[in-house]
Amino acid sequence: MALPVESPAERLAPPAPGPLVPEPYRVAASRSETEDTVTLSLAPLQDPLLAPRPGQFNMLTAFGVGEVAISVSGGPDSDGTIEHTVHSVGPVSRALCNSPVGSVVGVRGPFGTDWGVGDLAGRDVMVVAGGIGLAPLRTAVIQLAGASASGGARRFDLLVGARTPDQVVFADEIRRWREQGTNVQVTVDAAAPGWDGPVGVVTTLLDKVPFDPKSTVALVCGPEVMIRFTARGLVDLGLPPENIRVSLERNMQCGVGLCGHCQLGPLLICRDGPVFTYAGVVADLLLQREL
Ligand SMILES: Cc1cc2nc3c(=O)[nH]c(=O)nc-3n(C[C@H](O)[C@H](O)[C@H](O)COP(=O)(O)OP(=O)(O)OC[C@H]3O[C@@H](n4cnc5c(N)ncnc54)[C@H](O)[C@@H]3O)c2cc1C
Repeated sequence: MALPVESPAERLAPPAPGPLVPEPYRVAASRSETEDTVTLSLAPLQDPLLAPRPGQFNMLTAFGVGEVAISVSGGPDSDGTIEHTVHSVGPVSRALCNSPVGSVVGVRGPFGTDWGVGDLAGRDVMVVAGGIGLAPLRTAVIQLAGASASGGARRFDLLVGARTPDQVVFADEIRRWREQGTNVQVTVDAAAPGWDGPVGVVTTLLDKVPFDPKSTVALVCGPEVMIRFTARGLVDLGLPPENIRVSLERNMQCGVGLCGHCQLGPLLICRDGPVFTYAGVVADLLLQREL
């Protein structure tokens, strides 16, 4: 049988981009959320990547510095523009936060599991976020706040914890969600002049929401210690573990289940998560303090 013959043009063509090849996106806007957290609007320079589902993440490249996993915090718009909210903690996240408008970053994804907002119709939903943990929840919150504002009988509560008042991300949107009718409670670990809201960790808000454990689903994201205490607090208040969804983070490199850097027990966070049901092996792993 004759083998297909490649034309010279085909021989010279670059390989088709795969999940490990970043696509160029232009920084269309950059908005400071807090002193060290920035939301970047990224517009595709070529065909946009697949539309991310709420809770999924992309791998973002700051060229010449490195690549990190960052959840999608907004979009996509009709032109494929997406938003990512980045907390500056190290070299790559700092470079991304400092990327000027007009510069180009690399994006590959979207990867991972999502919050499953589609199957929350008719359920009561409680979202609990700690610090930058509101970023991976933001697209879900926008959908849920919109659905409850448009007359759905469903109960939707948003509980937010931050270290200090100036560490609350998306403060303007929190005001808008409240105006739309969402019950948004914000607490801070340490107050500052002008703060007249609650003081204490976010778990202190849990028993202030009269939720029905039979019909409520909770979505939880934040530092791991906060996830652990929140999930346990919700279970203590009667919520079945199967009704609690958590988003976990680990050092992530390939994003597609090849390298094993994000292994957690039998799980790979990039392939099996980042959003997990807080039951079975995930609950067991989170309860082991050394993890
Ligand atoms: C699925 C997934 C989704 C994520 N989504 C987001 C997101 O939406 N926004 C976001 O800002 N980050 C997000 N992260 C975390 C982000 O990937 C890391 O913060 C990033 O890899 C740090 O890289 P770096 O090179 O800047 O810092 P590194 O050089 O890796 O770390 C520098 C220092 O910061 C510390 N550090 C690292 N990560 C954190 C952290 N998360 N918090 C506090 N200190 C840290 C390290 O211990 C080290 O001391 C996500 C991670 C995963 C796995």
